[in-house]
Amino acid sequence: MKETIDIRKLCINNMGKNIVIVGNGISGITCARHVRKLSKHRITVISSESEHFFSRTALMYIYMGHMKFEHTKPYEDHFWEKNTIDLIKKFVTQVDANNKLVLFSDGSSINYDVLVLATGSKSNKFGWPGQDYKGVQGLYHLQDLENMEENTRGISNAVIIGGGLIGIEMAEMLRSRKIGVTFLVREKNFWDNILPLEEAKMINRHILEHHVDLRLEAELKEIKGDSNGRASSIITNKGEEIPCQFVGLTAGVSPNIDFLKNSDIEIDRGILVNNFFETNVTDVYAIGDCAQFRVPPAGRKPIEQVWYTGRMQGEVLAKTICGERFPYSPSHWFNSAKFFDIEYQTYGIVNSQLSENEQTFYWEHSSGKISFRVVYDKNDKKIIGFNVFGFRLRHEVCDEWLTQKRTVDYVIEHLPKANFDPEFYRKYEPEIIAQYNKQSGKNLKLKARKGLLATFLK
Ligand SMILES: Cc1cc2nc3c(=O)[nH]c(=O)nc-3n(C[C@H](O)[C@H](O)[C@H](O)COP(=O)(O)OP(=O)(O)OC[C@H]3O[C@@H](n4cnc5c(N)ncnc54)[C@H](O)[C@@H]3O)c2cc1C
Repeated sequence: MKETIDIRKLCINNMGKNIVIVGNGISGITCARHVRKLSKHRITVISSESEHFFSRTALMYIYMGHMKFEHTKPYEDHFWEKNTIDLIKKFVTQVDANNKLVLFSDGSSINYDVLVLATGSKSNKFGWPGQDYKGVQGLYHLQDLENMEENTRGISNAVIIGGGLIGIEMAEMLRSRKIGVTFLVREKNFWDNILPLEEAKMINRHILEHHVDLRLEAELKEIKGDSNGRASSIITNKGEEIPCQFVGLTAGVSPNIDFLKNSDIEIDRGILVNNFFETNVTDVYAIGDCAQFRVPPAGRKPIEQVWYTGRMQGEVLAKTICGERFPYSPSHWFNSAKFFDIEYQTYGIVNSQLSENEQTFYWEHSSGKISFRVVYDKNDKKIIGFNVFGFRLRHEVCDEWLTQKRTVDYVIEHLPKANFDPEFYRKYEPEIIAQYNKQSGKNLKLKARKGLLATFLK
């Protein structure tokens, strides 16, 4: 007989609802933690990936030997029991919304009062011939890291397909073990569907400096295998054959929602939700990488696949679940990443191409590794967004400037206020303002951050 875990019966008197969360990533876990802070609801978190929550963004550092898996767990293993958050390591195959049941691959099931779907993403595969050969894989889950460890042992050459953030991380991982890397990028320049031309070219150069054979406007046509069913080479759209023993598929990710295909829960690319994360089925919510907004918040995309938005979404949903119906209304867009040694931050909206009403100011250091861009409205000069490469700005200051709709002049003059780097780091604001003054014919002066010696501004 199939087992159904009736957690209602397990509830201690008045412990509230049974909250079942599928997914123990940042979204599901943040939701669980905040529901626990706000209530005595029974909470069960399910994941087939790992027993305990870990930081997905740190996966690369395990491969590179900078961290052990244990170090990527933000909470001690006893945290969950102490906070009465039950953990189940099983794979969910179906949701029976009529009976409020979640079904597992081992035939068992669990019932819920409230269901939160936080199942994240999976690597894209586009049906390439040979994509299932041994040695061909994406990088998203812990199991991918384990496979990568196995698949790259003792190899000399790898090919990476797809020039996004995960692709460049994979290149860095492989180079850390001195494996030769050919990087096929479909676009004219690295990530140029997101980055403006100058920044995209800066990263092209940086990738080449790290001895990665970057092939722009190159696509995968086919993966060839040997008699053991292992990848042995790839063929590009230009007919070139590149020998390799490992193929990394990093052409984006998509919501991990296949298990919902025959359910009553409405899906498109992701699980469709409103700004309370409600799906079309009562008491079923979706958050994080797997959720798709029917109407995205202003200035945002329908699917947000970044760490900090998953965290925000988990926290906001916890309020609604605990009785304070709370809409998701994020502040300005922010993202950060690292391209080998170059740190990147973006605030507000910086598109790869300027729109009609936009103008931009761009400064690049002579090293070709540090840059600053501000995009602003052509008419009223109010800022729309900025990109920073190679140094860091303070999130709260940038966010405030965008909210206050500061002008480009104001931002350039007050850049020292936003600089995040320690005082003894080299400062670039004098060069930035000098170039701005030269281009605009103005004579703006830097305003020093309060309490700081202004000597470096001279
Ligand atoms: C290598 C890498 C580097 C990244 N670096 C950055 C970065 O620097 N900055 C940034 O903002 N973002 C980064 N991201 C993206 C970020 O990690 C994700 O946006 C975030 O982890 C999504 O969180 P989530 O909780 O929505 O989903 P996930 O973290 O994907 O968690 C979902 C969990 O649900 C489980 N699950 C799914 N389906 C089922 C099922 N049917 N049954 C049981 N369990 C299931 C999954 O196995 C997984 O454990 C990176 C991603 C990767 C892969």
